[in-house]
Order: sequence, then structure tokens, then C-alpha cells
Amino acid sequence: MAYRELYRRGKLHERVETALSLLESCSVCPRSCGVNRLADEIGKCRTSRQAIVSSYGAHFDEEAPLVGRYGSGTIFFANCNLGCLFCQNYAISQLSEGQKIDKEELAYIMLSLQEKGCHNMNLVSPTHVVPQILEALEMAVESGLHIPLVYNSGGYDSVETLKILDGIVDIYMPDMKYDDEETARELSGIENYPEVNKAAVKEMHRQTGDLEINNEGVAQRGLLVRHLVLPHGLAGTKGIVHFLSREISRNAYVNIMDQYRPCYKALQIPGLGGRISSAEFHKALSFAQEAGLSRLDRIHATELLPILSE
Ligand code: SF4
Repeated sequence: MAYRELYRRGKLHERVETALSLLESCSVCPRSCGVNRLADEIGKCRTSRQAIVSSYGAHFDEEAPLVGRYGSGTIFFANCNLGCLFCQNYAISQLSEGQKIDKEELAYIMLSLQEKGCHNMNLVSPTHVVPQILEALEMAVESGLHIPLVYNSGGYDSVETLKILDGIVDIYMPDMKYDDEETARELSGIENYPEVNKAAVKEMHRQTGDLEINNEGVAQRGLLVRHLVLPHGLAGTKGIVHFLSREISRNAYVNIMDQYRPCYKALQIPGLGGRISSAEFHKALSFAQEAGLSRLDRIHATELLPILSE
């Protein structure tokens, strides 16, 4: 895998050092809190020097090309640099559910997932713990880690930090949550999400290209975008799929998701109190097809044709 080549050339350690240096006046993510996490100060992500892991294991509910026969080796990191009011994993992302772990323990988890036969190592909410992941990765690589690394983020990632990951991450799987800045501010408490998110997705695609899937149907490298359709068009699906088609690639692999359900504080927010209708989901798919995107997770081209003719 890509990171093994960096390790062979003796360059992985430099990346670890560069990433760790960002913790001193934290600019690991675009929030740029400036707190000293090396001294255990806490910024918006509520994570100090050590990463917190909520759970890990082989998962079979991920996107089809990640799951294969033996599952995706998923590590859920607690806390998040976003504050989505409808988060389905809010106990992990907002309430810090999990255990603090050091780099030796994290390296052990990585190797144990590989030992189970998982097709990849799927880092969920990695944005705020990139330095901690890299120092563990170096140890795991020394002990033989070789499966593809999946960076599964909320999509609010800084290009500078992503550049540290160039040649390390094999598969980027960012969310594209919103196409409208004001909606992102209201629902996730962040500034400039669309601008930051689009720049991050461009950098991820520059590094890894379109998603490459092997003969067994398992992803090896590239970009896979997730987009959760929100009620009443709040996610801005049309703008996002057009961005992907025009500025990333018509061959972009996208998972347009219909599983929104009101969680966490969603019931307090007008418009977010119910699930999306099948008409709303079909409309989202039709936007993708009109934009020229045809690589949609778990949706076959034959299913798309009737949608367009409706
Ligand atoms: S990683 Fe956390 S502390 Fe660092 S800038 Fe982002 S939110 Fe702030």
C-alpha cells in the first residue's frame, strides 16, 4: 500500500513529526483553535493529546466496495470537529464515549483488524486525530501492516493536513454534507463548510483519483464521496452532484444515502423532525443522473433509467 512505500523510503517518520507539530498550537483541522494539545489543552473537538477510541471491529454495513467478504476494519474515534445537531452517532461524536488510548494500543488495534482478514482499515472521524493516527501507523507498519487505509471523514478537513497524508491514505471517503454555508452554520455549527469541503475533496481526488475496484469488487484506491439526503433539500444535493461532475470527475463514486432519521437534537429543529420521503430520495438520484454521475453505491444503472423518465 502507498504508506509502505513512504516507510521504505524513510519518509513516513517525517510526516509523523510534521503532523505532531500541528498539535502545539492546534491547526490540525480548519477550525484552527490554537490550543496546545501537547499540553493536554482542549479545543472545539474536545480531544487533547491522546485519541479516544469508541469501538473497533469488522463492519459489513459500509459501502459495498469496502466490505468485500471479510468486512471493513473500522475504528470509531470519539469526538468530532463538527457539531451536527442531527448526528446519528452523537454519543460518540458529541458525548466523547470511548477510551483514551496511546499509540501502542492504536497500533495493536490496527494490526488486529488486519489479522481478522479485514480488507482495509477504516478510520471513522479521523480529522481531529490525524497526528495520533500517524504515530500509531508508523508502529503498525513496522510490524507488517499492509491493508489499504480509508480516511472516513465529515469532510471538514484542511488542505494543509491532507497534504501530510499524501502517499499515506489509499482511499478517501469524505462526506459532502451541505452546499449552503448558512445551513452548515445552523445545523453543524461551522463556518465556510461548502468552501472548505470542496477544497478538501479536490485535494483528496488529486492525491488518489477515481475509486479503483479490483476483480473481487474490493476498493484499492481513490475517492468515494458520501452524501446524506436531508429533508426539504437541506443538504443541497443538486449543487453537490454538479460540483462532483464538473470539478472532480464524471467517474466519481458517490454514495447518496437515504437513511436520515431524526436523532440527537433534530426534533428541536424545524424541518428535521422526520425521515425523507421516497420521492425526495428519487429526486436526489435524478439530480445525480442529470449531472452525469453513474457510479452510485448500491444503485445500478438500470435502476436509474426509470427515475429519469419519471
Ligand atoms: S483538531 Fe480540534 S483542537 Fe485542533 S483545530 Fe480542529 S477542532 Fe480545534
